[in-house]
Amino acid sequence: MNEVFKGRFTQQEPIPEAGIEAAVAVMRHGRLHRYNTIEGEVAQTVLLEQEFAAKVGAKYCLAVASGGYALATALRAVGVKTGDRVLTNAFTLAPVPGAIAAVGGVPVFVGVTPSLVLDLDDLAAKVDQSDVLLLSHMRGHLCDMERLMQICDAAGVTVIEDCAHTMGAAWNGKASGTWGKVGCYSCQTYKHMNAGEGGLFVTDDAEVAARAIMYSGSYMLYERHLAGPPSEVFEDIRYETPNISGRMDNLRAAILRPQLEDLDRQCARWNERYYALEEALRDTAGLTVIDRPKEEHIVGSSIQFLLADWPEGAVTDLLARCGARGVELKWFGGAEPVGFTSRYDSWRYVDAPRMPESDKVLAGIIDMRVPLTFSLEDCAQIARIIREEVSRIYQSIE
Ligand SMILES: *Cc1c(COP(=O)(O)O)cnc(C)c1O
Repeated sequence: MNEVFKGRFTQQEPIPEAGIEAAVAVMRHGRLHRYNTIEGEVAQTVLLEQEFAAKVGAKYCLAVASGGYALATALRAVGVKTGDRVLTNAFTLAPVPGAIAAVGGVPVFVGVTPSLVLDLDDLAAKVDQSDVLLLSHMRGHLCDMERLMQICDAAGVTVIEDCAHTMGAAWNGKASGTWGKVGCYSCQTYKHMNAGEGGLFVTDDAEVAARAIMYSGSYMLYERHLAGPPSEVFEDIRYETPNISGRMDNLRAAILRPQLEDLDRQCARWNERYYALEEALRDTAGLTVIDRPKEEHIVGSSIQFLLADWPEGAVTDLLARCGARGVELKWFGGAEPVGFTSRYDSWRYVDAPRMPESDKVLAGIIDMRVPLTFSLEDCAQIARIIREEVSRIYQSIE
C-alpha cells in the first residue's frame, strides 16, 4: 500500500508563549495604537523597529501594515511617480507588481533563470528603461548581489529589495535587504515571522526613512520614531509628504518581538528540513533540484524543483498523485492563474511582451512549502512520495 503523508502544509507553529503574554499585556492596557503611550513608555512597535534595525544592520526601520504596503511606500519614498516604469521580476508574487501599480507605475519584467533568480543579462539589457528596480528574492533565491549592484549602480538605478522570503538570509555575509536603498519584509502568516499581517521597512537613507515615516501615517509625531532619522531631516518632508496610513499596531509588534529574538534558531530549523529534502530529492530522474550557490545563506522555508520539458498532462498528473498521498505541490506553469499567482503573464493589467526563455523555466517550476511543524521524518516521507511519483510518471514520458 502507498504511504500517505498526514501533515498540513499550511500549518505554522503557534506564537511563542512570550509573544502571547506580551500580546495579552497590550490588550489588558488597551494602548494598541503605536502613538498611544503613557509617560516613560516606549511602544512595542518602536521597540520592534529598533530591534529589527539592529538585527539586519540597518540605520532606520519602520513597521507597517503589510509587506505590500512596505513595497509601495518604498517606491513612493524613492520618488516613483504615475507613469514611471519600474523594473521587476517576471517570477514573483502578485503584491510585487501590485505595489508598482498602486503608485501608478508600470512594471517592466526581467526574466528568471533556471536557478530561479533574476536574469542579470536581461537586467543589463533593460536597465536603461527605468530608474528603479524592485527586486524580489522570490522563494528565497538570491541572485549574485555584487553583480546586480554593479549593473544598477552603473546605470544609476535605485534598488528596492523585496525580502518577503529572505528575512534572515544573506549573500556573501551581507543581509538581504541591506544591499539596495530599501529592504522590505512581510510578517504575514506564511513568512518567517508571523503576525497574521505586517511589514517592515529598512534603509540607511535618512530622507527615504523620513518620507516613509510620514507616508505611513505619523502625523507630526515622527519624533517618537526612535528607529527613525533625527527631527531636522523632517523639516521640509513633513509638509510635502501625504499621509497614506499603513501603520503597524502594538499588538502585532508584541507578537513579533519574541519571534525576532528566535529568528536565527528558526532559520536553522528551516534549513535542516530544506537540506534534508534537497538531499533526498537529488538524483531523481526527471527532477532537477536547484543548486544553491555557496555565497548564499538561505532560509529554506519552501523548496522548489524543476520538471524540465515535462508535458503539461504529466505535471498535472504528478500534482494529483502527490496530492492524493497528502503532498501538496504547487505548479506555476498552468495557463490559468490559480492560488498565489506568481508569473508575469497572470497580471493582465500589464502589457508585457512574451518572454520565451522565462516561460520555459516557469513552465517547469514546482514549489512546496516547508512549515516548521514538519519533522525531519516528515520531510523524509514527503521526499519518498515525490520520488516515487516522479519516477513512475517520468518512466512513461521519457
Ligand atoms: C508575501 C509576499 C509579499 C507581500 O507581503 P504581504 O505582507 O502579504 O503584503 C511580497 N513579495 C513576496 C514575494 C511575497 O511572498
